[in-house]
Amino acid sequence: MSESTAASEVGRDVVVVGAGIIGAMTALHLQRLGRQVLLVDRDEPGRGCSYGNGGAISPDLCVPISLPGMLKRVPGWFRDPLGPLVVRWQTLPASLPWLIRWVRAGRMDRVLQLAEALRALHGPSLARYERLLAADASLIERTGQLYVWRSNAAGPTEALARELRERNGVETRALDAAAIRAMDPALAPGFTRGLFFPDNGHTVNPLRLVETLVKHFVAAGGSVRRDKLQAFERADGRVRRLVMESGAHLDPASVVLAAGMDGKALARHLGDRVPLQAERGYHVMLPNPGVRPAVKISNRDHMFGMTPMEHGVRISGTVEITTPDAPVNEQRAWGLLELAQRMYPQLNGEGATIWMGCRPSTPDSLPIIGVARQAANVVYAFGHGHSGLTGAPMTAELVAHWLGLAVAPVDAAPYRPDRF
Ligand SMILES: Cc1cc2nc3c(=O)[nH]c(=O)nc-3n(C[C@H](O)[C@H](O)[C@H](O)COP(=O)(O)OP(=O)(O)OC[C@H]3O[C@@H](n4cnc5c(N)ncnc54)[C@H](O)[C@@H]3O)c2cc1C
Repeated sequence: MSESTAASEVGRDVVVVGAGIIGAMTALHLQRLGRQVLLVDRDEPGRGCSYGNGGAISPDLCVPISLPGMLKRVPGWFRDPLGPLVVRWQTLPASLPWLIRWVRAGRMDRVLQLAEALRALHGPSLARYERLLAADASLIERTGQLYVWRSNAAGPTEALARELRERNGVETRALDAAAIRAMDPALAPGFTRGLFFPDNGHTVNPLRLVETLVKHFVAAGGSVRRDKLQAFERADGRVRRLVMESGAHLDPASVVLAAGMDGKALARHLGDRVPLQAERGYHVMLPNPGVRPAVKISNRDHMFGMTPMEHGVRISGTVEITTPDAPVNEQRAWGLLELAQRMYPQLNGEGATIWMGCRPSTPDSLPIIGVARQAANVVYAFGHGHSGLTGAPMTAELVAHWLGLAVAPVDAAPYRPDRF
């Protein structure tokens, strides 16, 4: 990058680092509030975790991942390398402090607070996407989501999940076997219980969604730069300069760090230790599935989902607690295909491709949105774990609040980095 190009970007008010769903949404929102924004990513937009997610946009989502009684389940996390949640022994020392915090976040009093904060963040998401993407309406489907179980007996956390949904005003409809079949006739028999979320939806292509946001941003005068943020230069409690891998220097008034999993290392450079753990997940993409779920569906016995997308059917899920760079376990992905074929016996696996991505997860399931402790002009916006696609619209609005550009749409305190 030549000095002159770098200099032309110095005049931007805000640099957003990371062009995943969080950074793209934030850049567009800040631009609409009148800021000059530069969106920077080391890769093409949308190629991080936002590339391969399940596409669910879930306003209902208010049940934290850690719930009371987690400790009893710990032995199971190590037993089956292909189970829905696995902790890898090899990387346990690196994950242990986070796991301890995770189990502690499952205290009942804390869970009630977290549920409220999750619902506040997620509740308006689908409506916000629909408004923003009115011209690209085909990207979003508001067809609801369906949870199904083969097992008749309710699992240990189901009663609590129901209570949290009720407390937070989530509408659900319980379905019996006949109602499930009526909703999705291609589904194999044997699913005895279902729960339908009428107010949820999904995107038919998570990558195209990010690319579309970036397209609107660029069309309105925003700049995108492919470069990696390497270091910060600080003075007087502010970041004065971003040092990029290309050798360029950027000197914006404010910086938003929306770098997903890499937020942890970048925050560390600024003196903040944030507990962020890679909860790795996998997907299988079926280009010629032969049969499609009627709506976005989740198999709650095996904890994975299937989404009808514009380029096929996506099977996604599983949690693997390990370091981001640990070797990929392809068996985890192919295991998802096997389970999905038991749900839809006609499902065609030909041409399937697999993918692994790192959910950037905090122990309490809430993202980290707020000002860096030692750099007053840096706002963090990462750590969205299982629900970044859903949390993106409100995250962008909370970032605007922390930059002093707008009133916070909800109480901003629960997501602050200094809660840890
Ligand atoms: C299998 C799976 C299924 C999921 N399903 C869903 C779902 O159905 N619904 C839902 O809401 N969520 C889902 N999620 C979670 C969701 O995908 C994530 O929460 C979300 O993508 C996080 O977005 P992000 O923008 O923070 O991170 P990312 O998409 O990872 O973006 C971060 C970007 O920062 C860039 N970057 C990092 N460091 C630097 C640097 N130093 N300089 C420049 N650029 C940098 C990266 O290249 C990357 O593009 C799922 C996740 C997985 C793994």
